[in-house]
Amino acid sequence: MKQYPFISLKEVNERYESELVAAAERVIRSGRYLHGEEVVGFESELAAYCGVGNVVSCSNGLDALRLIFKSYVSLGIMRAGDEVIVPANTFIASVLAISDAGLVPVIAEPSPTTHNLDLDLLERYITPRTRAVLVVHLYGSPCWSEHLVETAHRCGLKIVEDNAQAIGAYVDCGGVRRMTGALGDAAAFSFYPTKNLGALGDAGAVATGDNVLAERVRTLANYGSDVRYHNPYCGYNCRMDELQAAMLRVKLRHLDEITDARRRRAKVYERVINNSLVRKPLALAGAVWHQYVVAVDNRQTFRDYLSQRGVGTDIHYPVPPHLQPCYAGLKHSQLPVAEKLANSVVSLPITESTPLGDFEEIAEIINSYK
Ligand SMILES: *Cc1c(COP(=O)(O)O)cnc(C)c1O
Repeated sequence: MKQYPFISLKEVNERYESELVAAAERVIRSGRYLHGEEVVGFESELAAYCGVGNVVSCSNGLDALRLIFKSYVSLGIMRAGDEVIVPANTFIASVLAISDAGLVPVIAEPSPTTHNLDLDLLERYITPRTRAVLVVHLYGSPCWSEHLVETAHRCGLKIVEDNAQAIGAYVDCGGVRRMTGALGDAAAFSFYPTKNLGALGDAGAVATGDNVLAERVRTLANYGSDVRYHNPYCGYNCRMDELQAAMLRVKLRHLDEITDARRRRAKVYERVINNSLVRKPLALAGAVWHQYVVAVDNRQTFRDYLSQRGVGTDIHYPVPPHLQPCYAGLKHSQLPVAEKLANSVVSLPITESTPLGDFEEIAEIINSYK
């Protein structure tokens, strides 16, 4: 029987194999494996791509988020016990970064239509201790509005973007396209291998137009050292290495093709899937489709049906962070929308390395589900 794997990382990367091998050779022969020109090159290429003033590369997406919040604390802009609003349906790393910096995650309901933070409910979660909103562009779908910007401005809140799933996504701001990752005060990127721009290992980055924040992030990521053997802060080692930077430079040059291919695949689903038992996602023009997520009531039956026909699926995410044992002590309001989503979402294959024609077939299989 024909197989439609959920994702094959081998196929994702083999299309660039000769370029990746050449880049790896360049690094191996350079004798420089950290603090070198690949990292510098990648940072300036990503900054240009997103249209943002500073990019600081780092070890992974969680560390990118941690560095942002720890830098705000280090700069005295946030203090232990201050609150950060974060959506309930996100990967747990978004929440971990907040609590790790001594800040309090305030878990907020998503919108049942966008699956992103329900920006219309924002005021409900704001208290005198709120310092920031962490918007997550979940599944590659931008989470942004005039109301968010206006509210943040009025209440003195930072807007931090978790852009781990949305590199290349954009929003239309009065006729001008602006990239996610360059919309808020600071943004975190992840280059985990399954992400749309995936490294061959762990990697991440912080983007910000704020030069002071960028400098503190860079310092904290390098032991808290500004000049060699001078440490004004207690820092960490969260650097990206030259090999990953070289891999990412190759793939960044192909990112627009990757995004186009994913958008074409999502369009096939959008056009062909026509089954009242399967609720399709809202299709925003600027989305980059890190995941294509449908909602179904009898999820296990649906997944078993697809699996028996060779279609791999996944769930993003089955257990929201506020229901994880590690956050058993975390206070939160009722989150019925998030919990319903967690019980009904199913991610379909969407990777650019799967042939476009396969998506019609997957959609037809879905249409035959009863
Ligand atoms: C992948 C991801 C992260 C974490 O990135 P890592 O590189 O795996 O640490 C954070 N937030 C979201 C929304 C993610 O999808």
